[in-house]
Amino acid sequence: MSAIGSATLLPFSPRSLWPSKSFRRCHPSDATWPSQQDWKRLNDAVEGNLIPVNFPLSRLKADPGSVAAKRLAKDLRNPFYIGDQPGLTQTLGWVDAWATQPSVYAVAARNAQDIAAAVNFAREHNLRLVVKGGGHSYQGTSNAPDSLLIWTRHMHDIALHVGFVPGGCEHSMQPQPAVTLGAGTIWMQAYQAVTTQSAKYVQGGGCTTVGVAGLIQSGGFGSFSKHYGLAAGNLLEAEIVTADGKIRVANASTNPDLFWALKGGGGGSFGVVSRVTVRLHELPQFFGVTNFTIKAASDDAYRGLIREL
Ligand SMILES: Cc1cc2nc3c(=O)[nH]c(=O)nc-3n(C[C@H](O)[C@H](O)[C@H](O)COP(=O)(O)OP(=O)(O)OC[C@H]3O[C@@H](n4cnc5c(N)ncnc54)[C@H](O)[C@@H]3O)c2cc1C
Repeated sequence: MSAIGSATLLPFSPRSLWPSKSFRRCHPSDATWPSQQDWKRLNDAVEGNLIPVNFPLSRLKADPGSVAAKRLAKDLRNPFYIGDQPGLTQTLGWVDAWATQPSVYAVAARNAQDIAAAVNFAREHNLRLVVKGGGHSYQGTSNAPDSLLIWTRHMHDIALHVGFVPGGCEHSMQPQPAVTLGAGTIWMQAYQAVTTQSAKYVQGGGCTTVGVAGLIQSGGFGSFSKHYGLAAGNLLEAEIVTADGKIRVANASTNPDLFWALKGGGGGSFGVVSRVTVRLHELPQFFGVTNFTIKAASDDAYRGLIREL
């Protein structure tokens, strides 16, 4: 994350953009690692929502044949179970690239103030900070060992608006139907509120356990994107905590650079999003899905099938 603020003009050199070689984050074995008193202060600031992070996979490693390990192996097939564990990610790793690892502590954030407290604590103590919503990062960017985690799982408030106008855009935008989603909302919760209960359409993705904030910040493509565009293109406003701990609103007229950056700039790059407001559409008149499996009887038949497709 980078801080928002004024910058001194420096002669451009790509090297000057990188931290010095001696820069490293604080680790639990370092003398500068926060004391129990420090952690207690953070826990008080977030109203008791600081939790040590359990790592369920250690059960598999410790005793793979145990009942608990077998149960876990079954649970790992359930994306909702994984989403409920601050110490797990939906993709558990990538061969020779990364393997999921738990943070030391997590702030199970309830609101933007909790997020700001965690951001300030991480900055002041030089801790690695990670953010996890739906936990679907393919690159493993929502987990890191020896880190403090901001876990947004419990931030799933949803509010529908008949005529939403982003703050400061009263003279440039017409009121439009929209929905405000807490950063930890997964798409299934959004579709339930918007489509099942309110007969509107919101542009998300195909996987219902992906997080809204992660998907929108990485662009976001779903079944009707050819018609309604990317999920990021439907973003009207975001509330975001930047590296200086400030809670900011970003939309087309307030912090517009930050707003454009959020529309595809990648999760966790510009701050921690606490809520998003996205445009709603009318439901398409017809929609549906056809799934089928064709089994070719021979290699030749398979080639013919591919040709026909
Ligand atoms: C099974 C599967 C199906 C998918 N299907 C689709 C699809 O249909 N369409 C599509 O476009 N994409 C799809 N994706 C890709 C998905 O949109 C991205 O991986 C997305 O970044 C996941 O977001 P998340 O919150 O679930 O994951 P996370 O791992 O929690 O977060 C992803 C990134 O965003 C950051 N982040 C999360 N929340 C916040 C926040 N509140 N503020 C700041 N940064 C945050 C994390 O730090 C991380 O870097 C799919 C991925 C998987 C694994």
